[in-house]
Amino acid sequence: MAICYIALGSNLGDRKKNIKKALGHLAGTKGIKIEKISRIYETRAVGGPPQGKFLNAAIKIKTSLSPQLLLKTIKKIEKDSGRRKSVRWGPREIDLDILLYESMIIKTRGLVVPHPRMFEREFVLKPLREII
Ligand code: ATP
Ligand code: CA
Ligand code: CA
Repeated sequence: MAICYIALGSNLGDRKKNIKKALGHLAGTKGIKIEKISRIYETRAVGGPPQGKFLNAAIKIKTSLSPQLLLKTIKKIEKDSGRRKSVRWGPREIDLDILLYESMIIKTRGLVVPHPRMFEREFVLKPLREII
């Protein structure tokens, strides 16, 4: 089982419900076990067009899924939550990002780990510090 950290964010619709729903989907996925959940923080949107505030959280999971399969899984959860393709860094019902996967360094077209922008984002680091 690999230890992995995932960031969750929502700034559209019922934000808290969106986060809880995504947590439920992740918990219900075979090969994923949620170990720790941070508190939920409200943060101003950074980058992108003007938009509403986010709720952000981070979780620690243990998983038997490969990084690629995990990415596929979180993309499906995003899609099932009603997220549609829109502008980059635009508002969304749910955003799930893989922050860390063990100590792996991955640089493929569809997946970069550690998440390349996590270290400059307080809204990622703050919940992460709680659970690491
Ligand atoms: P940012 O990546 O700056 O947080 P974003 O979350 O708004 O921006 P998305 O539109 O959600 O960006 O994702 C764009 C693509 O990024 C995804 O389709 C996915 O393939 C790719 N991606 C690369 N690395 C990761 C990662 N570590 N976690 C999630 N997606 C990733
Ligand atoms: Ca993101
Ligand atoms: Ca994302």
